[in-house]
Amino acid sequence: MQTSEDLQDDFLFIDDSDEDEIIDGNNEDAWRVLIVDDDPEIHSVTQLALSDLIVLGRRLEYLHAYSGEDACKLIEQNPDIVLVLLDVVMETDDAGLNVVKYIREDLQKEDIRIVLRTGQPGYAPEESVIKEYDINDYKTKTELTRRKLVTTVYAAIRSYQQIASVTESRRGLEKIVAGSARLLGFHTINEFTNASLEELTNLIDQDADCLFCAQGQGIIENANDLSFYVIAQKGFSSLLAKKKLQSLHNDQINNQVKACFTQKANQYLDDSVCLYLAKGLYRVVIYLTLTAPLSDVQKQLIEVFLTRLAVGYENVHLFQKLNNAAYKDWLTSLPNRLAFVHLLDKFAKNNDGDDVAALIDLNHFSDVNDALGQDVGNQLLAAVAQRLQTLGCNCKVARVGADVFGVIGSKDCLTPAALAQLFEEPFVAGEQNFPINACFGFCTKKHANISGVKVLNQINIALNLAKKTRLEQFAYYDPDLEDETQWRLNMIRQLRTDFANNRLELWYQPQLSLSSGRVIGAEALLRWRTAEGKFISPAVFIPIAEYSGLIIEIGDWVVHQACAQIKQLNEKNFDQVTISVNVSIPQFRRGNFVNTVLNAIKEHKITPNLLELEITENILMDDPQVVIDALTQLKSHDIGIALDDFGTGFSSLNYLQKLPLDRLKIDRAFVTNIAKEGQSVIAETIIDLSKKMNLKVIAEGIEETEQQERLIELGCDEVQGFYFAKPMPKDEFLVFLENNRLKCQ
Ligand code: C2E
Ligand code: MG
Ligand code: MG
Repeated sequence: MQTSEDLQDDFLFIDDSDEDEIIDGNNEDAWRVLIVDDDPEIHSVTQLALSDLIVLGRRLEYLHAYSGEDACKLIEQNPDIVLVLLDVVMETDDAGLNVVKYIREDLQKEDIRIVLRTGQPGYAPEESVIKEYDINDYKTKTELTRRKLVTTVYAAIRSYQQIASVTESRRGLEKIVAGSARLLGFHTINEFTNASLEELTNLIDQDADCLFCAQGQGIIENANDLSFYVIAQKGFSSLLAKKKLQSLHNDQINNQVKACFTQKANQYLDDSVCLYLAKGLYRVVIYLTLTAPLSDVQKQLIEVFLTRLAVGYENVHLFQKLNNAAYKDWLTSLPNRLAFVHLLDKFAKNNDGDDVAALIDLNHFSDVNDALGQDVGNQLLAAVAQRLQTLGCNCKVARVGADVFGVIGSKDCLTPAALAQLFEEPFVAGEQNFPINACFGFCTKKHANISGVKVLNQINIALNLAKKTRLEQFAYYDPDLEDETQWRLNMIRQLRTDFANNRLELWYQPQLSLSSGRVIGAEALLRWRTAEGKFISPAVFIPIAEYSGLIIEIGDWVVHQACAQIKQLNEKNFDQVTISVNVSIPQFRRGNFVNTVLNAIKEHKITPNLLELEITENILMDDPQVVIDALTQLKSHDIGIALDDFGTGFSSLNYLQKLPLDRLKIDRAFVTNIAKEGQSVIAETIIDLSKKMNLKVIAEGIEETEQQERLIELGCDEVQGFYFAKPMPKDEFLVFLENNRLKCQ
């Protein structure tokens, strides 16, 4: 406290003050004091008494009111008044007390200090008023010597200052609590860092320009260096986010940030601040350009807030990592299946009718994995992922399964042709080039369900159809497909139960030699009689058995039944009658098909050449080498091989040469009109071809005598058809054989 040395304790109010002399020109740093008194003399005397007073480094500046009413107005207009020296009795006996009430109750100002003064001791306010309204002091004017006045004012302003600083701290802490809670709501680094800068400037009540800086590696995508990058910014004219701090071209800021980072300490200057944040693996510097120097309280508040920020920043990184683990594919960094479902959710719900979603399934990817190892497989998948991202038009690509990718894009861009084009060139993995084919399933917005999971299911249905369609490698989802899928699922269930309940039977259709009329063999054909006694055609249930994989078990059973039948025929002295069995592709794919057949032959003790396997050309198309290898092995054990439905498929003649064949079967399609003029060309060609290749030839589906006659003319060896006999149960077949033997004797 600085007061004039020659203070006189007994110096009371004097009337020769000069206001002009004591008004402080520098208002900013002054404490504003309001003198309220209806006696003008009191104003000048008070001012004079306090003229040299400096409180906590600041001078006093005065405002004057001469009535309670004026005082209220001035207080309302000047929020920075810190002290009111208030006369109690003015226009009314309690005018001063009304001002007190106005300050505390109406304006709700708790911090303004009030010193009550009265000329008449009898007008002293109640003690309760002093307590209730937080009155600093109550003095009679006569009590107030200059020294006492100075002491009273000094104490009041000091108390104001303490209250103000407590209030500032409290408000700051409230801001920190609220700001930290708000920050908790942000889960991406981008959102969190931007919001941090907002909260920080809000805390110090300054519209400061700021930068959130960190070293790039591991923080900024594709940045592998340790130079400083701007993660977020507030203010600054140029866009800096995700760019190097250097791009700001401000050496001063650059150096400040670096210094703060190396010294690991906050640096407060009058015009700027650099704050250092460290938690776990994460280090950050926040730079602020100040518009005014920070108060001590503000600095303390910042320190408190920084601890919250550091924790929040680490958390948001951990959250990001968790998020990546949950939604990103580790190998390709593409969105994973879960993320794709979310994308499909948006696709399903948005109103853009031009969008399409697709699944891409690589064909035979597992072969690459098995043959060349997972490393090469992974490289191949990464190469495919990279190429898919070149589709353009903002197509979103995801990896939804081992070798299945998902794409969402506009229908003009995401077309079967565009996808097919991506697979034209081989992919590079390791040292090698891999030509890869793929199947595509699509679902347009028009047919899309409203939930992502269901849309995924819809595209899957289309993809499965694409996989089964041999000519085209894509399919679009159609609601009818779903009915078909449901139907198929029911059939699979029913077939599985009926097979387990022995409802499948093997029937036999005789095959005859055209020259002798003898039965030389029979084709074994499956029959499915349901519990209701209804027959379901093999043309219907065989594809379902193949699709579900059930054909493997059923096929084994057929081979055993056929071998048992051969055995029984042998025992009845039909030891030249062959039995032909149809074989499907899944049976070959299983790998131990050859052994299954050889074991059956051994088990039933039959001569191998009495068993013949019928394969169709389509089997060859899928996996020619697997089939050729298996058949060559079987052939080496003397098992017969026939090519079924010849002429209807797409196999090349090249494969024909490689297959260890015994017979060609002319499909019924080329037999039906064979007796008509000019309609026998194909049958004729097949017969010639088989002769040249030294193969036997059998015609299927003979229903009329004319067809038989024409086949004799063409030199066909053998026949099978309703004209001779329909497929029949094994007991009837025995009877048929007996009758035929008698006929041919
Ligand atoms: P596929 O191997 O070509 O069998 C010949 C089909 O033609 C049989 O039909 C037979 O009943 C029918 N057929 C024979 N002669 C005539 C005729 O003169 N006129 C007419 N309209 N049809 C005749 P099915 O028994 O309905 O079998 C259909 C297909 O189901 C078979 O064609 C074969 O591909 C498949 N299949 C049947 N049994 C088995 C089996 O055990 N395993 C496998 N993988 N497929 C089987
Ligand atoms: Mg057949
Ligand atoms: Mg056939």
